Amino acid sequence: MSAIAFIGLGNMGLGMASNLAKAGHSVRALDINAAALAKAVDAGCVKTANTKDAVGTADVVVTMLPAGKHVEMVYRDVMDHAAMGTLFIDCSTIDVETARKVIAEAEAGGFPMIDAPVSGGVGGATAGTLTFMCGGTETAFSRAKPVLDIMGKNIFHAGGAGNGQVAKIANNMLLGIHMIGTCEAFNLAEKLGLDAQTFFDIASTASGQNWSMTSYCPAPGPVETAPSNRDYQPGFAAAMMLKDLRLAQDAAQSARAATPLGAQAMALYTLMEARGAEGLDFSGIMKLIDGSL
Ligand code: NAD
Repeated sequence: MSAIAFIGLGNMGLGMASNLAKAGHSVRALDINAAALAKAVDAGCVKTANTKDAVGTADVVVTMLPAGKHVEMVYRDVMDHAAMGTLFIDCSTIDVETARKVIAEAEAGGFPMIDAPVSGGVGGATAGTLTFMCGGTETAFSRAKPVLDIMGKNIFHAGGAGNGQVAKIANNMLLGIHMIGTCEAFNLAEKLGLDAQTFFDIASTASGQNWSMTSYCPAPGPVETAPSNRDYQPGFAAAMMLKDLRLAQDAAQSARAATPLGAQAMALYTLMEARGAEGLDFSGIMKLIDGSL
């Protein structure tokens, strides 16, 4: 069993770290938030006081942090204290450029590293069923795989450094776009006198069929488990979707990739945020489309 340093024990990190501890690893937890750290200790992790204490004896460092600036800052410190050869796994969702930069610096310093952003939300983190999208060398990925297997169900190697982030933002941009399209279709049908269930029965077996409709229908009724049936409580919050759409637009600009619908999706979720509704599930964009927000 390995000593694993886990930095960032928020909504996602807590469940992930506790699954590593349950699997018998010694998990050395670090967070700037005392309450988050205390929860991790309750879940079987070892409390550490600073980066040196957390990573000095670790074989693996896992991070689950809010954004690129935190990842860059934390790894600068981690590299000062980790033993040469320690494996770094960053599971945060961050911009592609920072992911590639931090991995290049780590590899140059003698630390194999992958980016490994996730999908599956807090439920997946707690249940150990996350999907990991990984970028980095084959050697680093192979070393990380047994650790990721404990926290997730589907583990993909998407290619070189940063490609995990690319997969994540391209997928979530598509999700945002088809969620908005699905809202427009249900709203149009309803305004023209076609009820949601009848439209769902038809479209879910026709060419408009998509995941946002069949698993997560934004119109209340057809999909019992969907957030639309509980006043759009998340789920996957609109604020998180907006974060990913912004990352996608930044990346699209730097790659000169045309993403006109991604840009429009970002604008619409920004409007949702401006109306104070970013805490709703991302399918709550239905309220913006039907005029009730
Ligand atoms: P969170 O804000 O709940 O957790 C982040 C944790 O990092 C906090 O506890 C914070 O105190 C800690 N932290 C920040 N700076 C630190 C530092 N310098 N040193 C140590 N700890 C530090 O966020 P979250 O919801 O757990 O999300 C984490 C990442 O996972 C984000 O990048 C997010 O985009 C991504 N993500 C989240 C979800 C979700 O449903 N919440 C789903 C997929 C991906």
